[in-house]
Amino acid sequence: MVVLGSTGSIGTNTLDIAHKKGILIEALACGKNVSLLNEQIAKFHPKFVAIGEESLKSAVKHDKVFVGMEGILAMLEECKSSTVVNALVGFAGMLPSLKTQELGKTLCLANKESLVVGGKFLEISKIHAIDSEHFGLKFLIQNAKTPISRLIITASGGAFYDTPLTELGSVSAKDALRHPNWQMGAKITIDSASMANKLFEVIEAFWLYGTKNIDAVIERTSQIHALVEFIDGSTTAHISETDMRLAIAHAVLEGAISEQIVKPVNLLDLKPIKFAPIDTLKYPIFGLKEALLDNPNLGVVINAANEVGVYAFLEERARFSDISRVVLKSVEKFHSPNTPDTHALIEIDRSVRAYANELLH
Ligand code: NDP
Repeated sequence: MVVLGSTGSIGTNTLDIAHKKGILIEALACGKNVSLLNEQIAKFHPKFVAIGEESLKSAVKHDKVFVGMEGILAMLEECKSSTVVNALVGFAGMLPSLKTQELGKTLCLANKESLVVGGKFLEISKIHAIDSEHFGLKFLIQNAKTPISRLIITASGGAFYDTPLTELGSVSAKDALRHPNWQMGAKITIDSASMANKLFEVIEAFWLYGTKNIDAVIERTSQIHALVEFIDGSTTAHISETDMRLAIAHAVLEGAISEQIVKPVNLLDLKPIKFAPIDTLKYPIFGLKEALLDNPNLGVVINAANEVGVYAFLEERARFSDISRVVLKSVEKFHSPNTPDTHALIEIDRSVRAYANELLH
């Protein structure tokens, strides 16, 4: 197996499963975390590794080191493994996803941005999605005997659910990184606080399950990840621990699970479950849901502007409220992106980033 983004939250959980199941690791890729990469090299003995920057290459304890995006793509070509876990973050995951499928390998996809920006360029039926909500949906859909009327995914509400709207202008990145239920990378944690993550998951569900009847509701405890509503009026819900190893194991082991992956939920310990609607005054990015479902091409615009906003906020160059401002303004300007191929996609991504950066100056 190949693990892209091996030093991140999904990457390390994937390696944990690989270790337990005795899966050989052929290649690893990360951005900057050389010390963790070196530990992973010592433990898994991959044939190839890739690192984000040339300046870091000499610190990597391996004799076959690829560098940058071109390096990741070249490394994939050399790999014989049939499975690639793409746990890179952001638009950087898009080309590796395409390359994985072009090479006929199985794509285990955590990098949801690949679907958000370029779902139409991917062979959807061959994707093994790694996301707790989509794993929950898959579980519920595959056991369905009655026609489905609606898919529902849940959101925790993120770090600022209890913060008054008037205080959102002054919250810090440190505050935003305190996710109530999940331990995740910085970008997705901010996306959870702004609800961009839930918008992305709605379009992810659209690509994966081919329906626009998708809703999201807040469930603060993250005990329920997804629900499926049937035409007969019944609803089923997927409940599990907040542990990504369940979704990862099902993706990489292709559903062939014969043992416990995470501890079962103790029903007597469940916290009270309540659902609430997503308030688009508080989470303006989620207000783009219908526009994005009507025109999935907008995904590249929303994602690029969001990445600019999120990293500016994390680097204290922007306020939290600037993220949604930049996203909404960018959608206003680039309202009908034409993306017949991936070159056009990359061009639009660049133009939106330039515009979003201007908005922050
Ligand atoms: P992290 O930030 O924890 O990890 C990201 C990984 O990508 C790191 O290994 C990082 O390397 C690497 N990376 C980042 N940029 C580059 C680059 N340009 N070139 C090479 N490597 C790069 O993120 P998560 O693991 O939380 O998330 C990964 C993906 O999975 C995201 O798309 C996220 O939305 C999705 N996801 C995550 C979930 C979670 O629970 N964490 C749940 C569902 C989906 P380094 O750190 O060494 O710089």
